[in-house]
Amino acid sequence: MIKVDFNKPVTVGNEFEYMRQAIENVKISGDGVFTKKCHTFLETELGVTKALLTTSCTHALEMSAILLGIQPGDEVIIPDFTFVSTVNAFVLRGAKPVFVDVHPDTLNLDETKLEAAITPRTKAIVPVHYAGVGCEMDAIMSIARRHNIAVVEDNAHGLFGKYKGKFLGTFGAMATQSFHETKNFSCGEGGALLINDPALAERAEIIREKGTNRSRFFRGQVDKYTWVDIGSSYLPSDLLAAFLYAQFEQREKIQSHRKNVWDMYQAALRDWAGKHGVQLPTVPADREQAYHMFYMLLPNLELRQKFIMYLRERGIYSVFHYLPLHLSDMGQGFGYREGDCPVTERVSDQLVRLPFHNELTSSDQEQVIDAIMEFQF
Ligand SMILES: *Cc1c(COP(=O)(O)O)cnc(C)c1O
Repeated sequence: MIKVDFNKPVTVGNEFEYMRQAIENVKISGDGVFTKKCHTFLETELGVTKALLTTSCTHALEMSAILLGIQPGDEVIIPDFTFVSTVNAFVLRGAKPVFVDVHPDTLNLDETKLEAAITPRTKAIVPVHYAGVGCEMDAIMSIARRHNIAVVEDNAHGLFGKYKGKFLGTFGAMATQSFHETKNFSCGEGGALLINDPALAERAEIIREKGTNRSRFFRGQVDKYTWVDIGSSYLPSDLLAAFLYAQFEQREKIQSHRKNVWDMYQAALRDWAGKHGVQLPTVPADREQAYHMFYMLLPNLELRQKFIMYLRERGIYSVFHYLPLHLSDMGQGFGYREGDCPVTERVSDQLVRLPFHNELTSSDQEQVIDAIMEFQF
């Protein structure tokens, strides 16, 4: 019997009411009233040039690869420790992924290894703000500028996180968000492309609308609606936008709840972790995290597996994630071998994520913490 879920997609406010309104608007395809509300919300809260809802973060990443004109033979720098979509979106355009190892404390792209990975073919750097804790954006942006390489932030974990007081997702030419059911804000499946480089905004609308100038047509800026570029169907139904907007409205409630969950784990596990050689997350002082997850690094793979099984026997669901991309079948196909990204290889064996969602209660957490305290190393 499950006593504590790892994740639980929940409603937090007006989701059902807004979905009903979307239906009453007689407009449940893309770019209806609620999609526009979501765009305005993201644009004004974050201060980005343009925000476009997409069907997923994966699709937002694909759009970014098209917008950058990624072609066969181009190279794209990606942290080795991330979800497959970060890399797949670029490989789909023919790019060669160049994996860079991560920092052992934040598990973010190690910017000290970035410059050595750059070649004349490098077209993009795609940092991932792991666990919603920002990467070293000053260093990454200055290296990218020096070499004239675009930065696309995979900000799937980091909505409303900040680096030196500035929102994650506002540094690169573009950034991508995920509203998958496992993320802080969700509509089941969904995402957004955030655009900070105004030169990319108009083409982004076209690519998202099947390569047509439909958005301009509806604004009355052109008198024909026609095929003008490559593209695909990257816009979600307004029903999903209605669900998502209801979650956006509860931003303070969601984020403050997640902060409480994170703080409770951290406070309860600090001494235990120190005693048993378990590493808890690092949040550098100049960063405000987005409270996406609570992870721990156990001393080794055997203990990590034993720990997950042990919790499961008590009805508590914890998970691990991100096998090193360079050692996947695809990664090896690109010529990568064991030893190429040693930090990722190690932390991927050690990492466990504790139950974390928008309805996790403190009594759920007490059960998790009590069980952890009784774990035999
Ligand atoms: C969840 C996630 C994605 C993919 O998001 P989807 O919306 O499911 O496509 C991409 N990158 C990272 C880092 C993620 O965690």
